[in-house]
Amino acid sequence: MTNEELSKIFNNIADILELKNDNPFRIRAYRKAAQVMEDLTEDAAGLIGTGRLKELSGIGKDLSAKIEEYVQTGKIGDFEELKKEFPQGVLDILYIPGVGPKTAKLLYDTYGIDSIEKLEVYAGSGKLQGIKGIKDKTIANILKGIALKKSIQGRFPLGTALPIGEMIVHELSGVKGVSNIELAGSIRRRKETVGDIDILVTSDEPEILMNTFVQLKEIERVLSHGPTRSSAVLKNTHLQVDVRVVEDDSFGAALAYFTGSKAHNIKLREIAVKKGCKLNEYGVFDLKNDRKIAGATERDVYEALGLQPVPPEIREDLGEIELALGHRLPELIEQEDIRGDVHMHTVYSDGDSTVEQMAAHAKSLGYEYIAITDHSQSLNIARGLDPRRLESQINEIDAFNETAAGIKVLKGMEVDILGDGTLDMDGSLLDKLDIVIGSVHSGFKQSREQITGRIIKAMATGLVDVIGHPSGRLIGERDAYEADWDAVFSAAGTYHVAMEINSYPLRLDLTDTMIKKAHSKGLKFMITTDSHDPKQMRYMSYGVSVARRGWLEKRDVVNTKNYKGFMKWLKGDR
Ligand SMILES: [Zn+2]
Ligand SMILES: [Zn+2]
Repeated sequence: MTNEELSKIFNNIADILELKNDNPFRIRAYRKAAQVMEDLTEDAAGLIGTGRLKELSGIGKDLSAKIEEYVQTGKIGDFEELKKEFPQGVLDILYIPGVGPKTAKLLYDTYGIDSIEKLEVYAGSGKLQGIKGIKDKTIANILKGIALKKSIQGRFPLGTALPIGEMIVHELSGVKGVSNIELAGSIRRRKETVGDIDILVTSDEPEILMNTFVQLKEIERVLSHGPTRSSAVLKNTHLQVDVRVVEDDSFGAALAYFTGSKAHNIKLREIAVKKGCKLNEYGVFDLKNDRKIAGATERDVYEALGLQPVPPEIREDLGEIELALGHRLPELIEQEDIRGDVHMHTVYSDGDSTVEQMAAHAKSLGYEYIAITDHSQSLNIARGLDPRRLESQINEIDAFNETAAGIKVLKGMEVDILGDGTLDMDGSLLDKLDIVIGSVHSGFKQSREQITGRIIKAMATGLVDVIGHPSGRLIGERDAYEADWDAVFSAAGTYHVAMEINSYPLRLDLTDTMIKKAHSKGLKFMITTDSHDPKQMRYMSYGVSVARRGWLEKRDVVNTKNYKGFMKWLKGDR
């Protein structure tokens, strides 16, 4: 985790320096270092003492000393000093979508706006209107950004919380006396945002466990410390972690209880009552003699109630209990079912690795094929491909496939669906490709009718195989654009176009409920990572968990097919 923490800190330092109007070269150096940390495949802590840290391009002596300081003390002195120059509220404002350092500084210097609450009052009451440097559009964006932030307030994207949760479970699983340890709560159900991290443990030595937990280096502040329950707040993210120790013969019942959802558990308790039983966090009890009949494992608990065990991702009381009673639950897709990752970018557009590097990594993950899908030319900021560069990429991939063994690379493109619904590339060239992803990257503010018509028009060309990140939302940063999804999904059925489930942690788009809607119309899906470097291919698990929350099975997802089957589908056998 150190690399990610360091990356975040370097970005924060750059933000504060920007607030201070500091030297742009210095700011850029910190941004660059943040990127280096994010891309580093080895743990930075492990490089200390080897002398290699300062040799990394973009790190150097000064920054490597800061990294060392952080690894040793959990802090960087300069950063702590910098933070003192502005109230925390100003730094919070910096992270509202639509506000940058320049605006934050202007607001602070001119009006002393030093908290999100104050900013909301100013923006909402028209006090910012007419100020030089702040457009009406900025004010609208500020209000929207605040609303978005509030909508996930106190909640964290799954992509932030899950790796931390898994790391803590890993660190505690080796502690003396621990026999069972699992994440519980909404993180176990893989909700797209989670409020905190719940961990359940059975242990013969609960005191050793809890002493280890409260001393983990990731912890900033201990809230409570006891033999059966401890809570702490983590550094950087300020996520709260609760660890509970339960008895061996109650572990399954407690796991079900703390995993939720509330609605699911209420239904379970009703079923228990109908059977003359009682269900709580300790087990299932026969009311006649108060004897415990299940509790050690979740499977025991479900089976004692006459139910098929329900996978955590679908415990929402949305019909799963009725199906479990009839032993007719869907067989949810698993990560191992995915045979290829079919949305990724390279140095041709805004990715940072070559076709060959992406293929090599995919091969190491056990994939049979990948698709290279760089951007089209209208996406200037992403160095989108014009026809000439697309042709040269096609040639490169053909040459690669002739010599490379063990992985197939499909030729593809993530082509922009332009404002009027036309595609940002010649049909004759798109025809040469194996796979075409059609994506909306601009004009999010068009009317519902316009966006709906635009996506349908793109699908009607017959050139698009799948719609990329269909709703365009970014969790906590940008709402989905307005569209008539019933109409879009119906048209997708007509034209046999699949819907993407984009695994990028801030996208997770389609969402679980939209997947259900699309699935009910018989649509097929592709789960992809939209990787811009090899490391991001690990995001696949997030997409799979959203698909599971949307009740998808292997057969619903096209890239579970082997290479031959996938190509056949692309060629029109749908
Ligand atoms: Zn895209
Ligand atoms: Zn993409």
